[in-house]
Amino acid sequence: MRGINPAVTGKPGEGNQTHDVRGINLAVPSKPGEGNITQGVRGTNLAVPGNPGEGKTQTNDLSWLQSVPHRLRSRLIQEALTTEPSDYGLPEGPIVLLLYAGPDNHTSLEMEIQRSTPWMTPYIVSLDILRDKQRHDMLHGQLYTHLCNKATQGNILAITGGPNCRTWSILLHKPQQDGTPGHPLRGRHEPHCWGFAGLTKRHSDKTDADSILLLRMLSIYDISRSAGHDPAFLLEHPADPADHSNEPSAHKCCSVWSTNALLSFSEKHNLTWATFPQCALGQHNGAKWTTIAYRHMEDMPNLNILTCNHTRHDSQTHTSAELARWSPGLNTAIACSLAHTLSDLQRGHNTSDSSRTIGTDNIETHKPSVQTIHPETEN
Ligand SMILES: [Zn+2]
Repeated sequence: MRGINPAVTGKPGEGNQTHDVRGINLAVPSKPGEGNITQGVRGTNLAVPGNPGEGKTQTNDLSWLQSVPHRLRSRLIQEALTTEPSDYGLPEGPIVLLLYAGPDNHTSLEMEIQRSTPWMTPYIVSLDILRDKQRHDMLHGQLYTHLCNKATQGNILAITGGPNCRTWSILLHKPQQDGTPGHPLRGRHEPHCWGFAGLTKRHSDKTDADSILLLRMLSIYDISRSAGHDPAFLLEHPADPADHSNEPSAHKCCSVWSTNALLSFSEKHNLTWATFPQCALGQHNGAKWTTIAYRHMEDMPNLNILTCNHTRHDSQTHTSAELARWSPGLNTAIACSLAHTLSDLQRGHNTSDSSRTIGTDNIETHKPSVQTIHPETEN
């Protein structure tokens, strides 16, 4: 079975207990009041204590996190809420969550969604600290907890995102402008891929922050699946430099795609991977090789066949923000895929319906009919 959990679709909770969580416990010893300890010994519980209305116990197999350092895992515990979802601009009801969505301008994914599939617009929630430093900060435990609750409720229909890549980047291996050697913050292998020991506090905080942005995105999706829901998912990050960079030290460079956590997460959720140069999809900033891992992105073209045929690339735009932007073709593919996957949403609720009171029972029926299978996994 190779770690694929057959119980996650449709039957919440059932069967998860057969998977040993191998001692992973998200409860932090120094925070005895959290209440996670009262849960079963086999299952680690991410549910917030004192949410009696949920009616579901989230017993989730978190073995995909077992190689992640405890200091990071502890930050995936949900907080006791002292705020409302609306404090973070989160509407009631179902949302399509575009995390780390970049600046709000004409090159954004939601602008493409607005152009191509306007009926989806009322459901879109785009978060990025470039838009709102306070209310969009995924390092805030309150925002994260509200999103976890939405995931539990089945109110997250899709999650997309390309978390910060700055502390993972091959650019850190390059000599700096003053000629001094590069200064990578992570190693390639566990546990150094989560940050070298002995970093300055500033560097370790920055490295951990980027790790948390990644892990919280994965965790929200994982919580949704474990509660019996099946949202669309797409993670984007630079392709593994070991395979796609000419830098001499690329084989020593970290990559989210080579972490045990992401490999295990991908296997658990049966994600499909694709690696391609974004210039082949209309980005003018060079052959930036990118990998995406996704599920329920219906009609996603086979991006693995794309190659760079350019003899030169426009080198006028080089800021990291511009480089981080998804190419127009990728935005189009994602917008189309989401529209196809969530097409029942359109039929049930046209754009003139602003009440957005679609029930979660309804959402359960929106499961796509086509399964995309990772080439390396078999049923
Ligand atoms: Zn190219």
